[in-house]
Amino acid sequence: MEQEKNIRGEAAENAPCKVAFVGSECYPFVKTGGLGDVMYALPKALIRENCQVRVFIPLYRCIPEKYRSRLTYKGSFMMDLCKGGRTFYVGVMETELDGVTYDFIDNQEFFDWGNPYTGLWEDIPKYCYFSKAVLAVMNYMEWIPDVIHCHDWQAALVPIYLRTRFGGTPVGRAKSVLTIHNLRFQGICSIPHLKYWSDLPDELFDYPVLKQNEDEANMFKGGLAFADRVTTVSATYAREIQTGAFGEGLDSHLRYHQGKLSGIVNGIDVEIWNSATDALLAAPYSRKNVLEKKKENKLALQRELGLEEDEHKMVLGLISRLTDQKGLDLVDAIFPRLIDGNTQVVVLGTGDPRYEGAFQYYEGMHKGSVCAFISYNEGLAHQIYAGADALLVPSLFEPCGLTQLIAMRYGTVPIVRETGGLKDTVEPYDAEQHQGNGFTFDKYNAELLLEAINAAKTVYFTDRWHWDEIVQRDMDKDVSWEKSAAQYLKLYRDLRR
Ligand code: ADP
Repeated sequence: MEQEKNIRGEAAENAPCKVAFVGSECYPFVKTGGLGDVMYALPKALIRENCQVRVFIPLYRCIPEKYRSRLTYKGSFMMDLCKGGRTFYVGVMETELDGVTYDFIDNQEFFDWGNPYTGLWEDIPKYCYFSKAVLAVMNYMEWIPDVIHCHDWQAALVPIYLRTRFGGTPVGRAKSVLTIHNLRFQGICSIPHLKYWSDLPDELFDYPVLKQNEDEANMFKGGLAFADRVTTVSATYAREIQTGAFGEGLDSHLRYHQGKLSGIVNGIDVEIWNSATDALLAAPYSRKNVLEKKKENKLALQRELGLEEDEHKMVLGLISRLTDQKGLDLVDAIFPRLIDGNTQVVVLGTGDPRYEGAFQYYEGMHKGSVCAFISYNEGLAHQIYAGADALLVPSLFEPCGLTQLIAMRYGTVPIVRETGGLKDTVEPYDAEQHQGNGFTFDKYNAELLLEAINAAKTVYFTDRWHWDEIVQRDMDKDVSWEKSAAQYLKLYRDLRR
């Protein structure tokens, strides 16, 4: 009898975990940043760990037709939302990709605007609707996960709905995890606006949960209070956000909930980011021939972008949303001193007009040495990762950061500020021991960034043997999801117990 119990207990323990991913974007359907990458790559890695994963995202109009045309209609119903009981259409459209099931929530009123994010005033109702709709859909489809893994503020009402409006329904059995990909964005609006659209109980609009201040409510804050576990995307960021400098006003709230907070570093999809099979590259390469082939990719990049074609120039890449978070004021401050006749800079990004204008100005000043490509362009990103010698990531804060991981995978040496996931993933180069993966600086200071770049230049131009060793060491580094997916699985299993 005892033995039977053990066998049953163990069998239950090892049964596949059923996990729902809920978030506002997911590659390849819709992506504006790293969240989109994680929503695609982590479920794929979890499937390899024998999890069952379904991903729930909105059916935005901007999702390309080639994906829309593959969707299968799974059903629809009307759902209450808002105070006063207005009802809204909820449609479910489904597809499968690489073993993962994707359920798209369809409602033209909310998701037919074009881009995912259109301004907070519209985004608040949009994601109240989305958060409630995904739970209603799980009940409707009779697919009840063990864990609902919610991502960022757009999914932060899910843990609250789960324990309130859906508490007595089948999906109420599920546990919730809320992951902070970027604490800067929290979904803050006037209390009446959120009260109206969420129709959550009045008592939740108090300080321990949704209340931000006398006038405002904060969706992320409420989700963090209600989630069974909270994770963020690196151990360092998990510590940093509990301090005033990085906590974006929620540091004391996070310290209060620190018992359920942990950091699990992101990986990248090493099938998509594989320089040996990357069809977008002029000359695909592996660790064995990286030193030769990188030159070919560099020449192709220079040709493509109208830069002087010279394999001996050091090419610095920057691929980023052009916002204050990414440390671009530091780059701006030292830019004239970067260009020395032997160095070229390639910037790929869109965002703040201040930075777009600054980089375009430098391109005009240094024709042939600088390219500012002000756009979002997946193909060119691959070519820069392959063709550049080093990648700049001098962020003010960086929860994890994916560009430094992709760079290392492509043998491009990262130059980063020691914050968040950058600190956890890039070991500083030690010129005596000849160890490390990149060049780093600590305080947020333009002169320190310049020093780090100059240290990289010195090794590149005067000690190429050791530079090439860094390139190869970076390509050897494990930046896959494997270890982190196992940590998430452990977390899900602990919750299921
Ligand atoms: P964040 O999520 O803060 O924007 P991450 O480093 O976590 O930053 O992820 C950025 C992702 O978006 C990477 O996959 C990077 O290659 C990609 N990316 C950023 N800007 C561009 C761009 N302009 N064109 C193509 N890809 C970009």
